[in-house]
Amino acid sequence: MGFYVKFWGTRGSIPTPGYLTQVYGGNTACVEIRIDDVLFICDGGSGLRELGLNLLKRGKSPITGHLFLSHAHWDHIQGFPFFLPVYNPANTFWVYGSSSGDTRLYRLLSGQMQSDYFPVKFSDLGAKILSDDLGEGEKVIEGVKVRCTEQIHHGPSYGYSFEKDDRKVVYATDHEVDQVIVNKEEVERDPSVMRKIPDDYLDFLRGADLLIADGQYTDEEYPKRIGFGHARANTLVDMAIQAEARQLAITHHEPLHSDDMVKQKIVDCRKRAEDFGASELVIFGAREGMELRIDAPKGR
Ligand SMILES: [Zn+2]
Ligand SMILES: [Zn+2]
Repeated sequence: MGFYVKFWGTRGSIPTPGYLTQVYGGNTACVEIRIDDVLFICDGGSGLRELGLNLLKRGKSPITGHLFLSHAHWDHIQGFPFFLPVYNPANTFWVYGSSSGDTRLYRLLSGQMQSDYFPVKFSDLGAKILSDDLGEGEKVIEGVKVRCTEQIHHGPSYGYSFEKDDRKVVYATDHEVDQVIVNKEEVERDPSVMRKIPDDYLDFLRGADLLIADGQYTDEEYPKRIGFGHARANTLVDMAIQAEARQLAITHHEPLHSDDMVKQKIVDCRKRAEDFGASELVIFGAREGMELRIDAPKGR
């Protein structure tokens, strides 16, 4: 029982195994959120394969889970055909991820399983796979309040928040936050000023005990990546401060970044938080295999 988060895939765009990425990991997006024995999964990148193996090892049967897709770019769905629990008819998975209903979700997940790409058809998966539509609203799922909001990406993407017992975790990946900052021109002139985030998005993030967000680029890299759909890590620092988040996990690491480069990016982010007098904000790079217990802070 309790509120736990585990990172199974923290890389963006494409799996990047190898000695240069072994600290933060090479698998693409997948985060497990376990709240009082209810299984939530954010994204089905290649990390989902390992989560599936781990779920089988845990021995619980049947398995019921809720899979939230931020969007259907390859790095967020490619683990699905390799997720062994979907082959067991005893298991049930709910899939959320689009405001356009069942047909679209089915098309997105089954498309990559057409016979030219994969030997097993989506329709031959044993488990019961159901879809639901969160829209941009909120819904209570097995006692957990889940909210969904649209974000800026190619497509777009969706962010999700999970709340229970005064604890809140937000998963907000593949969102080019830099496109929506309110004082964009001022920031272009002077990147050291606080990047102001729109109020409606801050409302969605507000008070997160853990904010998991995509900070793929450094400030130096971003000018050549404008419109790619990902944020500057430094912008996430400003966002977490304004949202009064307690911890910021930076994820969706750039495939070109070695462990040393990710480490340096995190060091720079911590320095920025200190410069804004927010050294109590915990900032870290999401690492494959890392598991956190989310506690309500004392006094809350
Ligand atoms: Zn992505
Ligand atoms: Zn994407």
